[in-house]
Amino acid sequence: MKKYDVVIVGGGMAGISAAIWCSRLNVKHLLLESSDTLGGQLEQIHNKLIDYPGILVDNGKQFQKLLIEHVDSLQCNIKSKCLVKKVDSLHNLIHLSVEGMEKQIQYNYLIAAMGSKSRTLDIPGEQEMIFRGEVYSTTSHKDQFANKTVAIVGGGDRAFEGALNLANAGANVILIHRSENFRARSQYKNEVLQNKNIQLLTNTTVTKIVGEDSVHGIEVNQQGNKRRIDVSAVIPRIGTVPNTSLIQDLVNLEEGGQVAINEYCQTNIPTIFAIGDICNPPEYTSLSTSAAQGMIAAKRISELLHKIT
Ligand SMILES: Cc1cc2nc3c(=O)[nH]c(=O)nc-3n(C[C@H](O)[C@H](O)[C@H](O)COP(=O)(O)OP(=O)(O)OC[C@H]3O[C@@H](n4cnc5c(N)ncnc54)[C@H](O)[C@@H]3O)c2cc1C
Repeated sequence: MKKYDVVIVGGGMAGISAAIWCSRLNVKHLLLESSDTLGGQLEQIHNKLIDYPGILVDNGKQFQKLLIEHVDSLQCNIKSKCLVKKVDSLHNLIHLSVEGMEKQIQYNYLIAAMGSKSRTLDIPGEQEMIFRGEVYSTTSHKDQFANKTVAIVGGGDRAFEGALNLANAGANVILIHRSENFRARSQYKNEVLQNKNIQLLTNTTVTKIVGEDSVHGIEVNQQGNKRRIDVSAVIPRIGTVPNTSLIQDLVNLEEGGQVAINEYCQTNIPTIFAIGDICNPPEYTSLSTSAAQGMIAAKRISELLHKIT
């Protein structure tokens, strides 16, 4: 069975940064990524990236390309299409599936960098909608909704920014939020309130997505008043949840569900570290945080390994 000083699970920004630092520090490492390419959420970023120091790119794919070139140039040890299925922290063992084959790998230290995913509404009709592929970016799909009615659900920056993207491209947007308090920054709030193409529906929950071959409408409940609204698409923007399922029975979690870590990104199990979206509250998730934590975990592990040997 193969053994590594560090096994990194997840090939998004956090995992990539950890692999780069392991390579730089001469730490024997292996990064495992379940999908066929690296980058994680970068694939979903369709707008310009302007807040990562030194990098100005039109979208996440461009950044992804730079990162792949970077890890290739440093000969980081990376394997894609490897789904990690179980972590056995007693024996420092991970169980993974590589294109249908089950394998085991041993580690001295594990870095969990499994990221986060969009929170879903968990209402009837939603899974069918996702399965049909009716999942939209408000940047790259905005033009297909001109003169159509679209429901956006949420009260944060992403919901408000998305509503503005679609409204400015000519869609009629119904922005639905469960309360009257919005987390969105005031810059977005003012623009949304002044936009004639955006109708705000507060104190309202969406209870069902209707439509067999495609979305035709939603059922909503506004303080007990239930009704149906015809829409061509539903876009939930209600935050994210960390992908903790692999280790949530092993390590301590914060109240918000993120993995609890110390200043070195170490969990309560000394051989398990966590970095990136999996351990940060949603308002502090970013490419910069992920990159920084990749460095901290790799550096700390390198120090611990040198103390052992
Ligand atoms: C639309 C959008 C716009 C954004 N815009 C910005 C922005 O402008 N600026 C900014 O700083 N941030 C932005 N972000 C946030 C930023 O993208 C994330 O904070 C960052 O990418 C998180 O990186 P990560 O490595 O922690 O996780 P992820 O990118 O989620 O990567 C996790 C990886 O782990 C893999 N994985 C999960 N489970 C397993 C398993 N069991 N086995 C193997 N692999 C596994 C996944 O396939 C994935 O590749 C945006 C995010 C989105 C969605």
